[in-house]
Order: sequence, then C-alpha cells, then structure tokens
Amino acid sequence: MTHTLPKLPYSPEALEPHISKKTIEYHYGKHHMTYLKKLNDMIPGTPYEEASLEDIIRKADGGVFNNGAQVWNHTFYWESLSPDGGGEPTGELLEAIEKDFGSFDKFKEEFTTASTTLFGSGWTWLVKNPDGSLEIMKTSNADNPMRQGKTPLLTCDMWEHAFYLDYQNRKPEYLAAFWKLVDWNRVEDRF
Ligand code: MN
Repeated sequence: MTHTLPKLPYSPEALEPHISKKTIEYHYGKHHMTYLKKLNDMIPGTPYEEASLEDIIRKADGGVFNNGAQVWNHTFYWESLSPDGGGEPTGELLEAIEKDFGSFDKFKEEFTTASTTLFGSGWTWLVKNPDGSLEIMKTSNADNPMRQGKTPLLTCDMWEHAFYLDYQNRKPEYLAAFWKLVDWNRVEDRF
C-alpha cells in the first residue's frame, strides 16, 4: 500500500493573516510530504506494508511509527483548521467542555498554557477518554493519544516549523492565531 498526501481542505493562502502561505508551503508541501515519502520508503517488507495509519500509530515503533504518526497528525491538524473557523463550539461539545473545564474560556486558557509550555517538539490535544470525559494532553515528537486508547478531537502542532516563519519564538501569538482558525464544526463531528 502506498500512502498518499490528502489534499489541503483550503488553498495555501486561505489561513492568512494567521498562518501564512509560506508556512503552509513548507509545512504541508515539505514537512508533511517528507514524512509521507519516508513512510512509503520504509514499510515495504515490514508487517506494516498494508497497515492503516491508525494501526501503525497503535502498534508500530521506530521510524515507521514516527513517520506514520506524523502523517496522520498533520492531516488531522490541517482538518482542524478552517478560514471560516474560530468562535466557540455549540451543543453537546460545549456542554462537555463546560462540565470538564468549567467554561470554554477556561478550556482555552488551559490548552494555550499546555501548548506554550510544551518542552521541545510535540502536539497539544483535546481528547475524549473511553469514559466520555474530555482531557487536554501534550505529546512529544510524533506521539499520538490513540496509543493510549483516547480519541483525538483537536490538535495544535507545537513543532517549531509550525510557527517559526510567522511568529519566531512568540508561541502565545501563534496560539491566538490558532484559536481564530479552529473548525469547531469538525471538532463537534469528531466528538
Ligand atoms: Mn508540523
């Protein structure tokens, strides 16, 4: 099986001024693409030759895991964003956020702090636990909450390549931009 790069759900300049066309061109066109190429180069002759990305995330290790998870994580990140995003969730997701975090603003604050304090490269996630509760998680490098049986609902890429061209070391500004782009309709569907 050859994995392919899913199309971006918007044009490369669509997220401006929050995320620049240049960032998307490098991040999607080079970083995401390179993980994909490496994965496709690595899997022939391994038990993961025909495996889905989800199976790779749950079972693989080493380079197959790192590249497979990074392919999945990036697709999930791109699909978490929209030029028409921002604002607040509604309905059952909003109720669940209010139940587990106190309020939407408190959730945003906790997620932002988790992101800006993540040490090194990684991802911040809103996940749904098997008991239905919501949780904010940080993972390092390529790691993904599905490894721990949790369902990802939203992610923010905290690798430097995600924000350095636009914001250099100013992570809080990148997070402020991220909140203007979150596609809550998509997050509600995942929930
Ligand atoms: Mn990235």
